[in-house]
Amino acid sequence: MFEYAKVTLLSMTPNPDQLIERAGRISHKSEHKIKEGSAEKFIKKYALKLGHESILEHANVTFLIKNISRVSSHQVVRHRLASYTQVSQRVVDPSGYIIPPKLLGVDRDYYSRSVERSINHASTIEGLGGLQEDVRYLWPNAISTELIMTINFRSLRNMFKERLSKGAQWEIKTLVCCMYLILRDKTCCFDDEIDLWVNAHSLLLNEYNIMIDVDETNDFAYGYYIGGE
Ligand SMILES: Cc1cc2nc3c(=O)[nH]c(=O)nc-3n(C[C@H](O)[C@H](O)[C@H](O)COP(=O)(O)OP(=O)(O)OC[C@H]3O[C@@H](n4cnc5c(N)ncnc54)[C@H](O)[C@@H]3O)c2cc1C
Repeated sequence: MFEYAKVTLLSMTPNPDQLIERAGRISHKSEHKIKEGSAEKFIKKYALKLGHESILEHANVTFLIKNISRVSSHQVVRHRLASYTQVSQRVVDPSGYIIPPKLLGVDRDYYSRSVERSINHASTIEGLGGLQEDVRYLWPNAISTELIMTINFRSLRNMFKERLSKGAQWEIKTLVCCMYLILRDKTCCFDDEIDLWVNAHSLLLNEYNIMIDVDETNDFAYGYYIGGE
C-alpha cells in the first residue's frame, strides 16, 4: 500500500466553539445569552453567514504533517497566516519520496530510478567532501518531508477553500482532506465547507485512487492508494 499525507492532531484550543462565541458576544455584551448549544447557532450566523470571521482567530490548531513531498510542503507554507517548523535538509538525510498516484500504474520503475539516481549522485558528491547543505541542491522535489503547522480557524478556512477547490493539486488536497476529517466533529467552524470536502474527497477517490482514512480517535488521518498497489 502506498501512503500519502499523514496528519496528526497535536493540539487544539479546548472547546473552540465556546471560546469563539464568548469572544463574539463581547461586542454586544450579550454574554448572558450563552447557554447549552448556543455556540453553534451563534458561529453559523455571525461568522459563517454574515462574515464576522475575525472571532474565529481565537481558536488554533497544531498539526504534525508527515509523508508529503517538498512540492506539496512548498504549497503549504505559502499560507502565510500560520506558523511552521520543518525538518532541515541541511542536516537530515532524505528518508523517502512520493510517487504521484497516476505514475504508480504507469512509469513507476523509471520514476523511482530517476529519483534514486539524483539522491545517489548527491551522496557520491558528499562522499567526495561536499557539504550536505550544498549537495541537497541535487535532491528532487519528490523527497518527503515533515512539518508542524499551527494555524487559526479563520486562516484554516481560507486554506480549505483554496486547497479543496477543483484546481488544487491532488497531494495538498489529500492533506487538507485529512485535516478536515480530523476537525469536522470537533467544531462547527468548517461546516459550510462540507460540500467542498465531499467533492474533493470523491475526486481523489475516483480520479486518483486515493482513499482518506481516520483512526477511531479522529486525531490521525492519512491518504493511501487503492489502485492495486
Ligand atoms: C489552485 C491554486 C493554484 C495556485 N497556483 C499558483 C501559482 O501558479 N503561482 C503562485 O505563486 N502561487 C500559486 N498558488 C498559491 C496562491 O497564490 C497563494 O499563495 C496560496 O494559496 C496562499 O493563499 P493566501 O495568500 O490566500 O493565504 P495566506 O497567505 O494564509 O493569507 C490568507 C489571507 O490573508 C490575506 N492576506 C495575507 N497576506 C496579505 C497581504 N500581503 N496583503 C493583503 N492581504 C493579505 C488575504 O486575504 C489572504 O487570502 C496557487 C494556489 C491555488 C489554490
